[in-house]
Amino acid sequence: MAEKICVAVRVRPPISQDSSSGIFWRVEDNRISLHKLHGSPISGISYAFDYVFDETCSNAKVYELLTKDVIHAAVDGFNGTAFAYGQTSSGKTFTMNGSPNDPGIIHRAVNDIFQKIQMISDREFLIRVSYMEIYNEEINDLFAVENQKLQIHESLERGIFVAGLREEIVNNAEQVIKLLESGEVNRHFGETNMNARSSRSHTIFRMVIESKGTDIHSSGDYSSCDAIRVSVLNLVDLAGSERIAKTGADGVRLKEGKYINKSLMVLGNVINKLSNGAKQRAHIPYRDSKLTRILQTALGGNAKTSIICTLAPEEVHVEETKGTLLFASRAKRITNCAQVNEILTDAALLKRQQLEIEELRRKLQGSRSEVLEQEILKLRNDMLKYELEREKLETELEEERRSHKEREQRLRDQQLKIETLSSLVSDGDRSSSQGSMKESPTDECNYRGDGFKTPCFKAAGNVFVAMRSNNSELPDFSPLPDSFSNVADEDTWFKMNKGYVADFDSLQTTPARKVQSFPPQDITPDCSNDNYKEELQNLKRQLELVIKEKNKLERKHEEEVQLNGRLMGEISELKQELDVSNNSLEASKERYGSLEREFQLLKEERDSLLKSVSESSKKLTFVTDQKENILKDLNWEVQRRKDLEAEIKQFSVAFASRQRSLASIHGEFKSKIEKLRAENPVPLHKSLQY
Ligand code: ADP
Ligand code: MG
Repeated sequence: MAEKICVAVRVRPPISQDSSSGIFWRVEDNRISLHKLHGSPISGISYAFDYVFDETCSNAKVYELLTKDVIHAAVDGFNGTAFAYGQTSSGKTFTMNGSPNDPGIIHRAVNDIFQKIQMISDREFLIRVSYMEIYNEEINDLFAVENQKLQIHESLERGIFVAGLREEIVNNAEQVIKLLESGEVNRHFGETNMNARSSRSHTIFRMVIESKGTDIHSSGDYSSCDAIRVSVLNLVDLAGSERIAKTGADGVRLKEGKYINKSLMVLGNVINKLSNGAKQRAHIPYRDSKLTRILQTALGGNAKTSIICTLAPEEVHVEETKGTLLFASRAKRITNCAQVNEILTDAALLKRQQLEIEELRRKLQGSRSEVLEQEILKLRNDMLKYELEREKLETELEEERRSHKEREQRLRDQQLKIETLSSLVSDGDRSSSQGSMKESPTDECNYRGDGFKTPCFKAAGNVFVAMRSNNSELPDFSPLPDSFSNVADEDTWFKMNKGYVADFDSLQTTPARKVQSFPPQDITPDCSNDNYKEELQNLKRQLELVIKEKNKLERKHEEEVQLNGRLMGEISELKQELDVSNNSLEASKERYGSLEREFQLLKEERDSLLKSVSESSKKLTFVTDQKENILKDLNWEVQRRKDLEAEIKQFSVAFASRQRSLASIHGEFKSKIEKLRAENPVPLHKSLQY
């Protein structure tokens, strides 16, 4: 959407006490005008802008009103540029960089961007920053002192860019601020008079904000989600405009010198041309300076741009201030057309293709067996082939039938002709016997000087009657003998054709059959019987020839009939074959179906078998375990038995020896008792007590 560049003017607080106090700048709302002290405004020097900030205005307010929208738009994918223009010491650096108490636009923008992207949950961001200085038309990298005199390039993907410029990927505002500080240190590097340099150099702080959607699945449309937004934000602190303002604004010839800042001068020209409207915008000299080339998109292109023009209020600077105001009012007329920069990266394309491939694969798997489809396709093709062959044979047969019919027709004609000739011959015989002859001198037939008329015969399908014109030559061959004397009147022809009237056109197309031609003879109307006989002979010969031909044709016809029969047989065979192949196709389809079913069944069976096998193997392990346990028990039992047996054996041995010893003791006792009894006999009752 076309929109004007946003332009604001900012008046800094006065630094020195003005000695003269004749005039001053008055700020009212969004208007600034030059006034006489305690007096009326000076006519013609009054300008209105989007905003006019007086000396009490803080950087916070400037940011809020002038730059915030550009910064937020940059997060949303629009290119953005904010730059400060004005003479040296008018407050450009104060506006862009600020002070510890009141941070400038750059600091505020950086903080704002990181705050904003943290609130956007459905996109992920990648932010790169670079910091450069254009000094004496040379681009130097403020992040890397070694990167000096860098070149500007242009490419389709990146647009206009500074080759070799260091870009730092940053994750938070603090990191950026630190980098900026280090950049300032580099700027001081090797430069004794910092202020002199800064008034002649431009600094461009650039942020490249890339973002892409994080949630692919919610929208379903991966094209928009995968699109990457890339926006470039330039925050520019320009060189002092004092010389340029004078020359550029008033058109006074520029005084050449080493302090002239080419970039700033070209910037003035570019703004001038852009502000002149569409007519003069044919050529804008962006390429004339490094600054305008880098800011090309920001000036009259795809960018949201805001310019802050800083003014020094002192009376001593009034001319410079006027120049700055002129620049600002021209810039106000520039229209830009900003749009979101969306690009599809290779990765995004790849992702999209991968998704498509996945989908296709899913579709392929979802369809029925590929093999079956192919088989059916093949069979269908075969069927089509057979069908075509059949059709071809049918047309051939049709053709054959037609030609057969034609031949038959021709034969019939021949037959008729022969019959006619035969009847003519017999008529001739009769008339010759009567000795009279018909004559018609008015006939249109070829009439020879001697009065003998020769009819012209041509066989043509079912037509063979015509008269030869008077001028026509005799043909080389003729269907009938030319020397026909008595049949030349029209009535006879009419009779012969059974009412058929000859068509001359069809006569022309009929191929003439070579029949022996009989040269005309000098025959007078009252010719002799010998002549007739001779002629009859001739006619008979002719007839024989015709009959021969007829026989030949009949033979040929028979042959063709046979051929037809053969062809029919072949066709029916082919049909049968086709039926067979159709049947086999059906059968194979059925077989396939049954096989598939069988396969399914087998699969199920296999599954159940596998299940039972696993169950039985489980059981087996259980049983094996049990068996092992039992075996262990058994072994233990056997061992125990063996031990017991050994014990029993020991016991029995001990028992036997004990028994033996007891028996011997008993024997001893017995013998001792016997001996004692024998030594001391006791009464019987005592011995019984004992
Ligand atoms: P420039 O960059 O245009 O040469 P500076 O930003 O360096 O000018 O400003 C010159 C001086 O004026 C600095 O000391 C700065 O602090 C002071 N100054 C500029 N603008 C303001 C302002 N709006 N409020 C307070 N001080 C300011
Ligand atoms: Mg400065």
